[in-house]
Parts: sequence; structure tokens; C-alpha cells
Amino acid sequence: MANNITFTMLKPDSVEKGNIGAILEKITSSGFRIVAMKLTQLTTADAEAFYAIHKDRPFFGDLVTYMTRGPIVAAILEKDNAVEDFRALIGATNPAEAAEGTIRNMFADSISENAVHGSDSDDNAAIESAFHFSGREMF
Ligand code: UDP
Ligand code: MG
Repeated sequence: MANNITFTMLKPDSVEKGNIGAILEKITSSGFRIVAMKLTQLTTADAEAFYAIHKDRPFFGDLVTYMTRGPIVAAILEKDNAVEDFRALIGATNPAEAAEGTIRNMFADSISENAVHGSDSDDNAAIESAFHFSGREMF
């Protein structure tokens, strides 16, 4: 899979606010191809495992509550340089610092409820994709 896929979640705030379509439009018009996608909901165990790297951070409990409170859209995206280009498209973790026109600048409310996830490395893109999708769900 080299450097051409990344994994994203449209987080519960994006689904609640009716922003699925607008965010997907931004993603696909920026040159990403949808390889896999589903509406799903994380269990507490899922969110704790997915964000295990942050388990000692003060925001961990709130992050798990937020990420499990409603459905998300999980997707695998393909593009050359996918991880880096998608991080550029979503903008900084804190939407107040996210560049104009980025997804977090346009759709996120706060550093905690920040609309979308994007993998931070090729290794994590592969791990996170496999966490959510089986081979037969990838196209
Ligand atoms: N987060 C938070 N408070 C913080 C930093 C992060 O609530 O001070 C949440 C936020 O939802 C973020 C997620 O934890 O997207 C994972 O944090 P990370 O630093 O990995 O940011 P990301 O990679 O999502 O930009
Ligand atoms: Mg991260």
C-alpha cells in the first residue's frame, strides 16, 4: 500500500450536524478516491484501542466519550502522498489554528470536537484501515 492510502473518520459532530455530504465532497474534489467507507459507531473498547497512544493524556476520557456518542463515517482514501496531503486538507488539530479552507477550519468547533480524523503515518494508515475494514470491504 506504500504511501498512497490514508484512513479517516468523520467524527460524531460531523454526522450530528449533517456535514457528511459536504465533507465527502471536499475530500473527493481534492483528488482522494474512496477505497472503503461505512457508517458505524465505535464502542468504548474500540475508541480506547484506537486512541491508546493518548491514554495518559488529560483529555482521554472526554475523547472516548465524544468518539462513542454517535455514528461516524469511517473511510479509506487513496491518493499519491495520501497521509501528508490529507493532513494538509484537514488542517491543524485545533480548528482555531487550521488554515482557511481546511476541513477543520470549515467544519470543526473546538480542539476536542474537530470534525475529522486523519492518519499521521503510512504505518498507522494501514493499522487503522485494518482496524475498521476487512479486505473484501476495500475496493
Ligand atoms: N484532542 C483533544 N484535546 C487536545 C488534543 C487532542 O480533545 O488537546 C482530541 C482531538 O479530537 C484530536 C484527538 O484527540 O483529534 C487526537 O489527538 P491528536 O493529537 O492525535 O490530533 P490529530 O492527529 O487528530 O490532529
Ligand atoms: Mg493523531
